[in-house]
Amino acid sequence: MMFLPEIRARKGVLTERLVQEPAAFGLGRLPRSAKPDATVNSICGYCSTGCSLQVHLREGEAVNLSPTTQYPVNLGMACPKGWEALAPLSAPDRATMPLLRNESGEMEPVSWHRAMEVFTERFKDVQETHGAESLAFLSTGQIVTEEMAFLGALAKFGMGILHGDGNTRQCMATAVVAYKQSLGFDAPPYTYQDFEESDVLVFVGANPCIAHPIMWQRVMRNQREPEIIVVDPRKTETAMVATRHLPIAPKSDLHLFYGLASRLIELGLIDESFIQSHTSGFEDFREFLSAYSLESAARISGIAYGELDSLARLIGSGKRVSFWWTMGVNQSYEGVRLAQSMINLALMTGNIGKPGTGANSITGQCNAMGSRLFSNTTGLLGGRDFTSGADRRHVASLLRIPEERIPASNSLSYHEILDAVEAGRIKGLWLIATNTAHSWINQKRFLALREKLDFLVVQDMYHSTESAAIADLVLPAAGWGEKDGVFINSERRIGRVRKVSRAPGEALSDFNIFRLIAHHWGCAELFTEWDSPESVFRILARLSKNMPCDFSGIEGYAQLEQAGGIQWPYPEGSEGLPTQRRLFGDGRFYHADQRARFLYEAPRAMPEPPCEEYPFLLLTGRGTSSQWHTQTRTAKSAVLRKLYPEDAYFEIHPKDATRLEIAPNTPVQISSRRGHMKATAILTPTVQPGQIFLPMHYAKTNQLTADAYDPYSRQPSYKACAVALQSV
Ligand code: SF4
Repeated sequence: MMFLPEIRARKGVLTERLVQEPAAFGLGRLPRSAKPDATVNSICGYCSTGCSLQVHLREGEAVNLSPTTQYPVNLGMACPKGWEALAPLSAPDRATMPLLRNESGEMEPVSWHRAMEVFTERFKDVQETHGAESLAFLSTGQIVTEEMAFLGALAKFGMGILHGDGNTRQCMATAVVAYKQSLGFDAPPYTYQDFEESDVLVFVGANPCIAHPIMWQRVMRNQREPEIIVVDPRKTETAMVATRHLPIAPKSDLHLFYGLASRLIELGLIDESFIQSHTSGFEDFREFLSAYSLESAARISGIAYGELDSLARLIGSGKRVSFWWTMGVNQSYEGVRLAQSMINLALMTGNIGKPGTGANSITGQCNAMGSRLFSNTTGLLGGRDFTSGADRRHVASLLRIPEERIPASNSLSYHEILDAVEAGRIKGLWLIATNTAHSWINQKRFLALREKLDFLVVQDMYHSTESAAIADLVLPAAGWGEKDGVFINSERRIGRVRKVSRAPGEALSDFNIFRLIAHHWGCAELFTEWDSPESVFRILARLSKNMPCDFSGIEGYAQLEQAGGIQWPYPEGSEGLPTQRRLFGDGRFYHADQRARFLYEAPRAMPEPPCEEYPFLLLTGRGTSSQWHTQTRTAKSAVLRKLYPEDAYFEIHPKDATRLEIAPNTPVQISSRRGHMKATAILTPTVQPGQIFLPMHYAKTNQLTADAYDPYSRQPSYKACAVALQSV
C-alpha cells in the first residue's frame, strides 16, 4: 500500500511525463505496427453494423479511407457516414486542452495536472460532504470496449461510485431485458447471413434503409424472393420498398402481435415439438391469449383483418421467418413486453436457431453491444450480477482486487440518476462521450437539473457540445480513429478499432484519461495490469470465460485482425469455427433449465395521447443516413451536411396541413406540454393524419418529448407524445 506523500509524488511524476513524453500516453504516436505509408483496417465508429474501413496512411497519418471488401459484414460497402468517418477529427471545435470554469464563469485552459487536481478534489469533496452515493457517471456506446470496462471498473471499484449508466439506456435497454428474461442472457441470436437466408423478414419499428443501410444491402442480396413486411405507423423508406407495409396505429403493436399469436394457435400453425422440448410457460400464454383475437387486433391497429390473417398464415407456413426490431420497439413505455411478443412468435413457430430465422434486435451505436457486456453499469463485468456473492468473488479473484471493492447492489438507471440529482442526493456528475443536454428526453428538465449539481465534468472530443457548454470541467478526449480497442457489433462480432491519427493538442484517449484519474484518485494499484488496451482486452477475455459470451479463445488483437472479426461465443479450442454463426441451433437456451420463457402482459394505455389542446401525436426517429444522433460528429463533415436539411423539419399529412392552412416549406411552431420549437413543414402522406414525424437530430426536438419509461428496462419512450401546431 502506498502512503499519501508517495501517491502525491507519483501523481506529479505522471502528469509531468504526460507533457514531456507524450508518446507514452499515445500522444503523437504513429499507429501501432503501421508503416508510414500503409493501409490498416478499422471498424467504423458510428452504427452497430460494424463495417470495416480500410484507412490509408501517409507518413503515419490517415489521409483517406475506403470500405474493406474482404470483411464478412459490409463486403466492400459503406454508408455516407462511414465514407466521411475521418472528417470529424479535424473539426475546429475539438477540445485540445482541459477547460476549467473560472470564478467569473468563463472556461479557461488549464494543464492536465491542474485538471486532475480539481477533478479529484471536487469529486472527493462531494463524496465526503454528501455521502458515498452522491457521485454518478453517464457514459456511452461509442467508446471501445476496453475503455468502457476501464471506466466501469475505475468508477465502481476504484472511486467508490455506485451509480453509473450509459446512453445505451436510450436505445438498447429494452432488448437487453427482453432477451435476459426470455432467453436467459442478453444474446441476440442472429448473424447477418440471416438477412440473406430468410423467406419472410418482418421489420417492426425499424427503418434499416436509413438507420442501418449496409444491413439493408444484405437484405437486398437475398436470392430467395423474400416477403419483406414493415410494421410501422410511417411509410418509411424501408416501408416504401417492402413487399407489404402495415401502417399500424401508434402503440397498437402489442395487440397486433398477441392477435397474431392467438390466430396461429387457432389455425394450429405452431411448432408443438419445439415448444415441448425447448420452452416453458406456453400453456399459460395460450390461456392469456384467449382474451386476444385477430378481430380485436385488426380493430385496434387499423390493419384489415384479411391482411393480418394472411400474415399469420405466412408466419406459420413453415418458411424461414425472421423478426427484426430497433427503436420503434425499444423506445416504448411497454418495449420489453413488445420485444418479447416477437420472441414469443419466433419460439411458438420454431423460428429460432435456424438459418434465416430469429427474434432479432438490431443495435444502435457502434459499441452498444460492448457496453451491454462490459460497461459494469447495469451488470457486473461479462454479463454477471452485482447482487450475486459468487459473481463478485469470481470477478474479484480474476482481477486480484479485494471483494469488498465490488458493490453488492445495482446502480440507479439513467433517469433515476437524474431523479436523484433533482432530489439533491447526487451532487457530482461525470459525462463521458455523451451529450445528455441534447439527447435526453424532456431536455429542459436536464438543463434545470444542472443547477442542482455541485460539479459537472464532461469528457468529450468537442468543447462545443450542449453538455460541454454547461460543464465545470471539460476533459479533452481522443475520438474514433485516434485510439485502439475493439467494438462488438449487432451480430456479436468483435472487431478491431485502430489508431490512425494523432489526437489534437493535449487531447488524450479515454483510456489514458482513466489511467490518469486512477493515479490522481489514489487507486492506481488496483489497475496495474490495465496498462494498455490490449492488456485490458485479455482481461476481458478471461472475464468472459464460461459465460455465454465466452471469447477466451481469442488471444489478442492479431488474431482478430487476421480472422476479420470473431463472433462470440468463441471459447478456448474454437479454432476452425465458421465466420458466420447464430445461437441456439441446439435448442438450448441460457436459463438454468435450458428452456426459453414465454413472457407477456396486458397492453397499457399510451402515457400522453393526443387531446383537444395537443391534437397531434409526435413520432421521432432518424432523419437521414447522413445524420448521427446529436450531430456532434456528422455536422462536422461538409459532405454529410449537404445530404440533409440543415434546419429542423417535420413531416405532416397534406390533409392536416390544408385544414390548418400550413403551406409547404413554411415554418411552424410545434408545442408540447414541455416546450416548443420551430420547424419547416414538409407535406407528405408518409405520415398518417393526426401524426407528425420530427427527426431526433435537431437541438430542440427533445424539448418536446415526454419522460415516460418502460417499467422493466427503464428506457425512455421517445416515440409518442402529444403536440400542437401553429403556423408562424
Ligand atoms: Fe459505419 Fe454503420 Fe455506415 Fe457501416 S452502416 S459505414 S458501420 S455508419
